[in-house]
Amino acid sequence: MTEHTITVAGVAVDTRHWIGGERVASPATFTDVSPIDGSVLGEISRGTATEAEAAVAAAKAAFPGWAATPRAERARLLHAVADGVEKRIEELAIVETHDNGALLRSHRRGVMPRVAHNFRFFADWLLKLEHEDFETRGHTNHVSWDPAGPSVLITPWNAPLMLATWKIAPALAAGNTVVLKPAEWTPLTASLLADIAAEAGLPAGVFNVVQGYGSEIGDALTSHPDVRRISFTGSVPTAKRISQSAAAQLTPLSLELGGKSPLLVFADADLDLAVDLAVEQYDNAGQVCLAATRFLVEETVAEEFTRRFTEKAGRLVQGDPRDEATDIGPNIHPRQLEKIDGFVQRALAAGARAVIGGHRGEGQYYAPTLLTDVAQDSEIVQEEVFGPVLTLQTFADEDEAVRLANDTRFGLAATLATGDPARAERVTARLVAGTVWVNCFFVRDLQAPFGGSRHSGVGREGGTWSFDFYCDVKNTVTAP
Ligand code: NAD
Repeated sequence: MTEHTITVAGVAVDTRHWIGGERVASPATFTDVSPIDGSVLGEISRGTATEAEAAVAAAKAAFPGWAATPRAERARLLHAVADGVEKRIEELAIVETHDNGALLRSHRRGVMPRVAHNFRFFADWLLKLEHEDFETRGHTNHVSWDPAGPSVLITPWNAPLMLATWKIAPALAAGNTVVLKPAEWTPLTASLLADIAAEAGLPAGVFNVVQGYGSEIGDALTSHPDVRRISFTGSVPTAKRISQSAAAQLTPLSLELGGKSPLLVFADADLDLAVDLAVEQYDNAGQVCLAATRFLVEETVAEEFTRRFTEKAGRLVQGDPRDEATDIGPNIHPRQLEKIDGFVQRALAAGARAVIGGHRGEGQYYAPTLLTDVAQDSEIVQEEVFGPVLTLQTFADEDEAVRLANDTRFGLAATLATGDPARAERVTARLVAGTVWVNCFFVRDLQAPFGGSRHSGVGREGGTWSFDFYCDVKNTVTAP
């Protein structure tokens, strides 16, 4: 324990950066606050261009050694990191819950096991990453995935460690070194991961963490000439800013951004299933990029759907995310709550009707809300709220359903409830979305391509797509 260590629910967390295998403090700090009760968790090192420079230099220095490390050894070390995560699931879960307010039971049983799986999956995928050689007029073509170099990974607060490791694991597996910049509202589990990586034996400089505000440290990371890849998950305005900054060096970018995804419910659907899928959209207090926040329901079943939805949503328990019984926790930050309520109040003023909710709860909670009587071109239908706020519109036929679904600048995901497989195929073919779920939601396999169209993102990650991004893919042609 040092003066830079804080204790969160009994777990010691270092508040400094992790650069070149050492803890580094900044002269300035920022305050990390828990959304559960507004309590101060600690003062965190507040990085600037100086720390960005040091972290990229450390990643650059470590790169040749890590890139030359045989695949099997890189995979072994990533499995060792996964072992470390599994040993500390309880600690990671409780710290993350204090930091971002998401449910402890999901962190324990879903999120942190998935964090370990991120490392195992990409370690194993690396070992089977091959492209069959092929011939051209007697010459052999051989495709290889060469490590690209230091990679900057910038991540949001809604699922901090899960989203960070979804990038860290393939980047490291690919042979790249990493500088991670977690969100300033949720800096803690990234710091714990640095401890775990060190204990697992990852060489110094292979994995680095810099803390701080994106506005203060971001540009220095994303415009740096020694950075070979930038992978970002977050909002559209930040993505535009990063794209401009990265343009200085033409650094390749992967962008995983926001959404305003539809849930299409056809009259031939199993309505109970459709309602189950609909209520799931309140998960993580609505702070899920993939959430199907726009319900599009066939006219003939809209009333019955709304009745059953209201009944089921009314049974959700909102409260302390540490309680096993809680279904919906707090929203991340007072500023975010303000934003959510602004969207809702403007929608109500414009004529929307709140079927449920439509107002704040106590403290940092927002009442689960469903708004109807909303116009297609209204702000509430077009903009991402990122809170427990859903809208419901009706459609007369398949054509109208598809038209409404696609009438958005986003294209991250879409969910369909229908009992007709032929309809599912027809509609899916016409939807603009990186992922379409038919009669299910949030089923994610790490080998599947993941990403968004339009303003929901640029590029795809997952399985071989991740290696395509994090590597310099090379074709070698050898004469007979
Ligand atoms: P944000 O864009 O405000 O911040 C994301 C990260 O970018 C943070 O770490 C922040 O510090 C950093 N940042 C801010 N300014 C920067 C700059 N100039 N240069 C470099 N970095 C900078 O987003 P947020 O509010 O943290 O996250 C919510 C958004 O993320 C939502 O739009 C949500 O849909 C999206 N999201 C997308 C996915 C996906 O996989 N597509 C997953 C989760 C969240």
